Formats: sequence, structure tokens, C-alpha cells
Amino acid sequence: MAPETLKTLIRCVPDFPRPGILFRDITTLIGHGEGFAASVGLLAARLGPAQAIAGIEARGFIFGAAVAARCGLPFIPVRKPGKLPVPALAIDYALEYGTDTLEIDPGAIAAGQRVAIIDDLIATGGTALAAAKLLSQAGATVTKALFMIDLPDLGGADRLRAAAIPAEAILEFAGH
Ligand code: AMP
Repeated sequence: MAPETLKTLIRCVPDFPRPGILFRDITTLIGHGEGFAASVGLLAARLGPAQAIAGIEARGFIFGAAVAARCGLPFIPVRKPGKLPVPALAIDYALEYGTDTLEIDPGAIAAGQRVAIIDDLIATGGTALAAAKLLSQAGATVTKALFMIDLPDLGGADRLRAAAIPAEAILEFAGH
């Protein structure tokens, strides 16, 4: 299934979760068996030399875990705060309003392990950049950040590239 067809499977919901946000909803993509399988295949094909995949909670778990299983690689969950049952390594990062936190189990990463980040969508890049910093602090070498969707007008992929992290997406949507 071609990327242009996959794009038609993404539901665009205006004013969610706040007025002015056009939410790109992957529920309808993963609810289409052939579309989900094609998405995972396209992401896996772009993985490069990764030894493990880190997925960002929550929608990055869906694509990241599927790609990891398909490629026979370990999956590292990058979690929202307070979810891990062991002492976690944490990073705070700025949102449009306020801050948020990501956490990982430091024991999940071997020193120098080559890790690719997967999430459903990149907008400003703040989330993926925080995940990359956290993984680096835990000893990983972040090889790439992969997304189903890029909103290039928000500059997130460029921000990652400026931080020397190759960023790629299967689909792009113009605007915000
Ligand atoms: P950012 O940190 O600005 O790159 O935002 C990326 C994170 O927010 C991802 O985990 C996305 O799932 C979510 N996100 C941001 N903007 C949107 C949008 N327009 N539609 C769906 N999810 C979004």
C-alpha cells in the first residue's frame, strides 16, 4: 500500500485536544489491517543500523513495538512519568503550555547501543528531542528518529537534524 493511500486512512479532527489544533488521528490507520501492516513495513525498511527501538508513550508504542517485533529487535519504552516500577532516568522538557517529563529504565540500554526512536508524529520536535537526550544520557547512540507523520511547517524534523539526529517520516501534512 503506497504512502499516498496510507495518508487517506488518517483521520483529521479539528480542534482536538484544544481549539486550533488539527489532530492527525492514527486510530483509523491502525484499525485498517493492510494499512497498519504496510505502515510497519515502510518504517522497518527505513530503520538503518539500529540494534534496538525506543518508542514514545503512547502512540509510539504501537508502531515502535510492531517494528521491533518484525525486525527481531529489543523494544525500549520511553514512558510518561510515574509508570516504571524501578528507579527511572528522567528528563523534563518544555511544551507550548508548561512542561512534561519522559522516563526510561536505565537498565534497558547497553552502553553504546545503537537505538532508533519511533513515534507516530513529529510536530515541533520537543518530545523526540527530549527522548533522544534521555536515551543518550542512558548510554545509547541515537541513530535515527522515525515517524509515520511529519508536520514539516512546525520544523521538528529540522530541529532534530540540527542536533545531528537524522529524522525521517513516511507521510507529511502541510500546515499545523
Ligand atoms: P512535538 O513534541 O511538538 O513534536 O509533538 C509530538 C507529540 O505530540 C507526538 O507524540 C504526537 O503524538 C503529538 N502531537 C502533536 N501534534 C499533533 C497533531 N497535530 N496530531 C496528533 N498528534 C500530535
